[in-house]
Amino acid sequence: MVKVTRMRTDVLVIGGGPAGLAAAIAIRSKGFEVTVVDAARPPIDKACGEGILPAGVEILQRLGLRLSNDAFPLRGIRFLDNGASVEASFQFGPGLALRRTRLHQLLVNRADELGVRMLWGTRVSETSNLSTYRWLVGADGQNSCVRHAAGLDAAGTKSFRFGFRQHYRISPWTDFVEVHWGSRCQVYVTPVSDDEIGIALLSRDSHLRLDTAMSEFPELQRRLHGAQPSSAERGAVTVSCRLRRVFRDRTVLVGDASGSVDALTGEGLSLSFHHAVALSEALSHGCLASYQAEHSRLARRPAFVAGILLSLDRFPALRRTIFKLLALDPPIFAKLLTTLTADESG
Ligand SMILES: Cc1cc2nc3c(=O)[nH]c(=O)nc-3n(C[C@H](O)[C@H](O)[C@H](O)COP(=O)(O)OP(=O)(O)OC[C@H]3O[C@@H](n4cnc5c(N)ncnc54)[C@H](O)[C@@H]3O)c2cc1C
Repeated sequence: MVKVTRMRTDVLVIGGGPAGLAAAIAIRSKGFEVTVVDAARPPIDKACGEGILPAGVEILQRLGLRLSNDAFPLRGIRFLDNGASVEASFQFGPGLALRRTRLHQLLVNRADELGVRMLWGTRVSETSNLSTYRWLVGADGQNSCVRHAAGLDAAGTKSFRFGFRQHYRISPWTDFVEVHWGSRCQVYVTPVSDDEIGIALLSRDSHLRLDTAMSEFPELQRRLHGAQPSSAERGAVTVSCRLRRVFRDRTVLVGDASGSVDALTGEGLSLSFHHAVALSEALSHGCLASYQAEHSRLARRPAFVAGILLSLDRFPALRRTIFKLLALDPPIFAKLLTTLTADESG
């Protein structure tokens, strides 16, 4: 805490996860002095499906990250439910998947290259005595203390679910993200390298774990037979909520701290990278109102997608009918996917 209070900087970013580091990189590129503070130490891991949508990949490349050797190209998305399967390819270039720890290290390296100051292992619990910055950026995730201190907390939460992830040492059998829909959960498979896949479970049941949930997916169990886990199981909550405002005075929020969508959308990381770019533009014009407007625009489509997916979760009979119909006419699902993952930067 002492280190943070004594420091002078143009922009102080609390939280050095993907949103905080992307924001630091984008803002530093505009010429500001930037300091990032995080309670943890790199490379930071987190329960995540680890897929990045094509629009998010494009932003990371614009921010100067060199991803090609580290990431697994994702062709599209496949939904599977009770024997029915529908899939579609991304129309705007591939998505990418890579382990969170690797993504974090790449972001840290790029921030370091640009001269961002980073303080790791430093938890911030009180923001009122941090006076030596022009702008304070809250990038401290779902339970943001910066958001709370600025009085920007959400009025309500639209959905609250539980996520768990684990990796397995096995060659991927597909370059699609596979979402397996079950009666109590979704399990999705993301190939993260040539010899590793990540499996994430999403459910409304806090007691449901991957090993129990897998009994709903015999085909997946068969594929994983004999594969060794290559990471420890990790859990996190996934929340859909929107804030009325994402800034007050000199304090502004990015990433999950500024509102979030259910993890099943696969939007969280891309949205955070969009926030980073939008915030850097707004700060360079000294106008957070323009960030607010852009943030609201960016939130609309992912919130819509989350609404559709959570309805499919709630109404299994309807879901199965829809999947069967889509399987009969694959181009419709391709068009839907194109619309639902359309680039936001325009
Ligand atoms: C199960 C699951 C699966 C997901 N799958 C995907 C996916 O496939 N694709 C996708 O795009 N998104 C996915 N998401 C969402 C994605 O993980 C989040 O949107 C993303 O992590 C948001 O990044 P962030 O930097 O805002 O927050 P975080 O990643 O939570 O980072 C916040 C950082 O702030 C630090 N911090 C917190 N409090 C303090 C404090 N007081 N002082 C100092 N530091 C602090 C933390 O240590 C942390 O490093 C998934 C989420 C879950 C739960």
